[in-house]
Amino acid sequence: MADNLEDFRTEVRSWLAANCPPEMREPLEDDEDRCWGGRKAQFKNPAQKQWLDAMAGRGWTVPEWPAQYGGGGLSREEAKVLREEMRRINARSPLDSFGIWMLGPALLKYGTEEQKQRFLPPIIRGEIRWCQGYSEPGAGSDLASIQTRAEDRGDHWIVNGQKVWTSYADKADWIFCLVRTDPTAKKHEGISFVLFDMETPGVSTKPIVLISGKSPFCETFFDDVRVEKENLVGELNKGWDVAKYLLQHERAMIGGMGELAGPRPLGQVAADSVGAENGMLADPMLRAQIATLDIDSIAFKLAMERTGDLMKRKKAHPADASVLKYYGTELNKRRHELIMAAGGADALEWESERSRGGHDARAWLRTKANSIEGGTSEVQLNIIAKRILNLPGA
Ligand SMILES: Cc1cc2nc3c(=O)[nH]c(=O)nc-3n(C[C@H](O)[C@H](O)[C@H](O)COP(=O)(O)OP(=O)(O)OC[C@H]3O[C@@H](n4cnc5c(N)ncnc54)[C@H](O)[C@@H]3O)c2cc1C
Repeated sequence: MADNLEDFRTEVRSWLAANCPPEMREPLEDDEDRCWGGRKAQFKNPAQKQWLDAMAGRGWTVPEWPAQYGGGGLSREEAKVLREEMRRINARSPLDSFGIWMLGPALLKYGTEEQKQRFLPPIIRGEIRWCQGYSEPGAGSDLASIQTRAEDRGDHWIVNGQKVWTSYADKADWIFCLVRTDPTAKKHEGISFVLFDMETPGVSTKPIVLISGKSPFCETFFDDVRVEKENLVGELNKGWDVAKYLLQHERAMIGGMGELAGPRPLGQVAADSVGAENGMLADPMLRAQIATLDIDSIAFKLAMERTGDLMKRKKAHPADASVLKYYGTELNKRRHELIMAAGGADALEWESERSRGGHDARAWLRTKANSIEGGTSEVQLNIIAKRILNLPGA
């Protein structure tokens, strides 16, 4: 195995050297540098498209998905080698995608063969961009209270209702959506998981502005939207099972933000601002906080690896994703608090060229949402208390 892996590493290294354009080895400046693909994709430069196509061509936008749907078909060990080699040259992710992080795993588990053949390849190639229609004005933490209604009309449903906080709904091509198909059943029952095109007549979106000044998400309205029955994933009225499974993947993915270091080490940012004495950061409190964060980040990274291995062997606890979500997002918020503390007053600049349009301040404010999106920290702690620690429920 070791020999094979070393051969694989050599092959990956030379392939990346030949195929990862230099522009795609530069750190991301902001969210707009990410490649989300989709029908309305706007590539920042030709290199971004070239990188997506090269990686998608090998199925390496999803290294561990089955090759029969266009995935890489790699083992977990091989995928780890690929990630390490990409990290070594600072290669950017070729594609960020709700299809990859959330819908794909749910389709692989609950989709019919026909649905897998139809929906997975365009996700892998970045051709269709997905958004998530879960939350509603009266259903966030208490998600099973959703009221969006799908009325049975024989070979299709007619959907009416409203979603909220739908990230990138205005840019997405398709939506995976929770709808109520049996209003008489108990609230966790009678929910179904359906897919439909955002260009279907009756779908409209209205962007909501965030505290960071950016507007990445929307209110989404459904007004007599026709949804074909073939687009039901899983069983009718059993959408809650699909929804929960997808949430595990979403939470693990959001928790992964805890692993993300900024383009420059925090100690260096702080040294530029508060200065150094005897080769050490001049502010001892800040020094201690940065050291603690670094240690916690390493521990979290190892915990992510361990949980990933357990998941692959189907030995992870279903609530492990809540542990990663909780800790990773709190860690990311702490990191950005420290970036602000380390940057001093300059970090608060909002619109200047020097601050790259208030990059640090806007990124710091954006992290405030990390412990809300995908389920709040309080809700994750409830899940951990109940399902891992076996404490009595409220
Ligand atoms: C940036 C961002 C992007 C998002 N993207 C999407 C998306 O793409 N698609 C989508 O469907 N949704 C999305 N969401 C919505 C997100 O999933 C919800 O905001 C989240 O589940 C919380 O629901 P809520 O906002 O209704 O808050 P509420 O559920 O009303 O919670 C309000 C407060 O009460 C606390 N609380 C609630 N219940 C309990 C409890 N039982 N015990 C203890 N405390 C509790 C919460 O922790 C929170 O502090 C996004 C949210 C954000 C911030």
